[in-house]
Amino acid sequence: MFVTSKNLIMKIALCYKTEKISEGSISNIKEKIFSYGFDLDDSHPDVVLFIGGDGTFLRAVHQYFNQLHLVKFIGLCKGHLGFFYSYEEKELDSLLSDLKRGACKSESHQLLKASVDNEEIYALNEIRIESPFHTLISDVLINDEFLETFRGNGLVVSTSLGSSAYNKSLGGAVIYPHIPCMELSEIAPINNTVYTSLHSSLVVDKDSEIVLKTKTENILVGYDHLNKNIRLASSISLKLSDKLVVLLRNSDYSYTKLLNSKFVGNK
Ligand code: NAP
Ligand code: MN
Repeated sequence: MFVTSKNLIMKIALCYKTEKISEGSISNIKEKIFSYGFDLDDSHPDVVLFIGGDGTFLRAVHQYFNQLHLVKFIGLCKGHLGFFYSYEEKELDSLLSDLKRGACKSESHQLLKASVDNEEIYALNEIRIESPFHTLISDVLINDEFLETFRGNGLVVSTSLGSSAYNKSLGGAVIYPHIPCMELSEIAPINNTVYTSLHSSLVVDKDSEIVLKTKTENILVGYDHLNKNIRLASSISLKLSDKLVVLLRNSDYSYTKLLNSKFVGNK
């Protein structure tokens, strides 16, 4: 799954939240980038350097959505959980020298795709349907077969990379991100003698299709940090797409170590 990137990398784009990082820090970072012989190019970069938290990575992926086949992403963590990062703020030199030497580990992640009202939306972490005002009612079909009629606050379909995000808060399993699959988790399901659902998270393989036939009006479809409203009951089809996001990590990176450092916190 992991291969070392040996491409000669020339052009870097920076992604960060302007309210979180001072202009001074950004100009220092830019100087460092030039001192390693790289160029800056926001329109056609080879590498997108995202600085901040995981939300910054999600925003960067959606910003460069049309160029995903051409760019690689690498993160410098600054003051957040930083699950997508393997370089801390003070490690800019090692990040740039690893890039220069092609010494990073490269991992590819499939985006999740949903077709909603004839529009396609994509997500790296998860796609959620939620009903803020009434109980959400939705049939759940797996590969055209009926599983259940869900009643509750919402449903979340997560990628393996996103399994450590919202899905984890719902009690879903954390899945090693090189395992291509989707995980369906429930938000506050109603379970009584009248209504019931699976009441646990369900992992389906990479070629499966999950269809959610909503019966409730005015639901919110969330995808990563984004969302859209759908007014009428509709059928939402979810599948893993063929769009890939390439994320670079440092050569010491391991997912088990990452879980330990971000969630467990003891050695
Ligand atoms: P946010 O509210 O800052 O994100 C919530 C937390 O999730 C932050 O600590 C964020 O890390 C972390 N995170 C994001 N992706 C992750 C991943 N793949 N694995 C582990 N942790 C992850 O909002 P945001 O930064 O715009 O991110 C949007 C994401 O927030 C959504 O995709 C969803 O997964 C998550 N979210 C979670 C809940 C919940 O757990 N109840 C509710 C709503 C949204 P940083 O601090 O580094 O940003
Ligand atoms: Mn965030």
